[in-house]
Amino acid sequence: KVSFFWFRRDLRLEDNVGLFNALTSDVPVIPIFIFDKAILENLPKNDARVTFIHESLQKINEALKTSGTSLLVKHGNTVAVWQELMLEYDIQGVYWNKDYEPFAIARDLSISSELKNNGIESFSFKDQVIFEESDITKADGLPYTVYTPFKNKWLAKFKTDGPLAIYDTEKHFSNFFNSNFEFPTLSTIGFEESSIKVKTHNLTKIKNYQDLRDFPAVDGTSYLSPHLRFGTVSVRKLAVWAEKTNAVFLSELIWREFFMQILFHFPKVVTNNFKSAYDGIEWRNNEEDFKRWCSGTTGYPMVDAGMRELNETGYMHNRVRMVVASFLCKHLMISWQWGEAYFAQKLLDYDLSANVGNWQWAAGTGCDAAPYFRVFNPEIQMKKFDEKGVYIRKWIPEFDLGYVGPMVEHAFARDRAIATYKAGIVK
Ligand code: FAD
Repeated sequence: KVSFFWFRRDLRLEDNVGLFNALTSDVPVIPIFIFDKAILENLPKNDARVTFIHESLQKINEALKTSGTSLLVKHGNTVAVWQELMLEYDIQGVYWNKDYEPFAIARDLSISSELKNNGIESFSFKDQVIFEESDITKADGLPYTVYTPFKNKWLAKFKTDGPLAIYDTEKHFSNFFNSNFEFPTLSTIGFEESSIKVKTHNLTKIKNYQDLRDFPAVDGTSYLSPHLRFGTVSVRKLAVWAEKTNAVFLSELIWREFFMQILFHFPKVVTNNFKSAYDGIEWRNNEEDFKRWCSGTTGYPMVDAGMRELNETGYMHNRVRMVVASFLCKHLMISWQWGEAYFAQKLLDYDLSANVGNWQWAAGTGCDAAPYFRVFNPEIQMKKFDEKGVYIRKWIPEFDLGYVGPMVEHAFARDRAIATYKAGIVK
């Protein structure tokens, strides 16, 4: 008999709850990753996330080899892969860490019922977050839809429930199944290596995070987002460290969990406004305008620099994400879903809950969102957060040669946005 540990968005061996539980059960464990054809089909062949996943799996495989085992990597339809595995192995149990996205919840339900029909138990664990689902609720048991009280409750619970256990998987590596599975190259799964790579993450600057984090020309944030997305770092270790180091940084990790629980409780936010009162807004949704926004040629340097950073690196600084999102929704009156979809294609750290949550925040349609009448002025944002134009010049080399004029005038766009929102909102 064997058990399986199924890696998904937890691509690390250390402090991994599901893996720890698999390794401390009583049969040898086969670690597995499945490249799902249905997901890969919709991605460009040089998708940077696929390269990152492949590299992360390779690291896991190298580490496993020193313990006489290896990672089983499959490529196919996930249900079909499990059906084949059930024929090939005498499986006692299948272990994984929970994923809270609607698609993943449905997939996991179908896999666990498929396994159950064959007499195999599945076990799922909380690993991706400190607090999940309904761990943090209001006194009446309903989910929070406002961030600050959620954060206060989160912090209080973190104190009473801590210190968090660290799962020392390393002590149990001898419980892996001895194997030497072949590790596939990217081309075997129909992909090629992307030149866009995840930035090196950096925790040394976090001491002054509150002073530096808003300035895109400064290396003042952690660059951990793709690692949190794919689980190449442990959020438990990070949160314990953050609590001792910087409260503002910790509060960003709590924003991440806030949006995750919103998605879990209100899955409609993936496509619909959280506030349905905003459903009547008449978006202009002009295709030409959208193209200019995507390519970073709006004539607003802060917006254009951000979009070019995104297109070239798969990353954009948070302050600039807020500016470009506000610009798309309010200056161009293009619905947030278009911007959300574009970010989803490009961001290395793309995460459904954070992306939808932040886009709806910027559009004013989300929970605890920016009020609709607050319209960022991209020129003022630039003066405040990139005073010397260092960030702008990095991404717009032609800036000093006389930059093209703005595609829409700010005062006009602001008035138009406020009037359109006002007319569309159901009171
Ligand atoms: P740091 O400032 O070092 O923050 C540490 C961590 O906290 C981040 O890695 C992230 O996991 C979390 N975090 C920080 N800010 C937020 C936030 N506002 N919401 C949720 N989590 C946060 N973040 C994503 O991870 N994926 C997305 O798809 C995403 N889309 C966004 C779309 C828009 C329109 C906006 C305005 C923000 C979006 N963010 C998203 C949030 C934020 O911009 C990034 O998490 C951050 O810029 C990543 O850089 P960092 O790791 O250096 O962040």
